[in-house]
Amino acid sequence: MKNIEDYKHQLETLREEFRERIIALDKDLHHTEEPVEKDFSEQATQLENSDVLNALDDEARSAIIQIDNALFRISNDSFGICEACGKPINEDRLQAIPYASLCIKCAEAG
Ligand SMILES: [Zn+2]
Repeated sequence: MKNIEDYKHQLETLREEFRERIIALDKDLHHTEEPVEKDFSEQATQLENSDVLNALDDEARSAIIQIDNALFRISNDSFGICEACGKPINEDRLQAIPYASLCIKCAEAG
């Protein structure tokens, strides 16, 4: 298995990336200094864009929660163990998603 310290480092790096993404998205979402567009089609486009930005923002926030959870599991020696069935999570899966809390079987079932 890959060194736990490597996963920890990877998780901390990812956490920082998502945090920066949220800060950037929040700036885009709350650019209040700009006047509100009067034109309807422009307004619709702006609305669509903010939906996309909101979705990305939600995604980044939930990833951070999962990363914190994974860091907690590293600290109490349960990292890499599926939260549903208690079996080890496949290492390929952990390398792709270091904050995965479920094995591939449980993730697909859930
Ligand atoms: Zn499982």
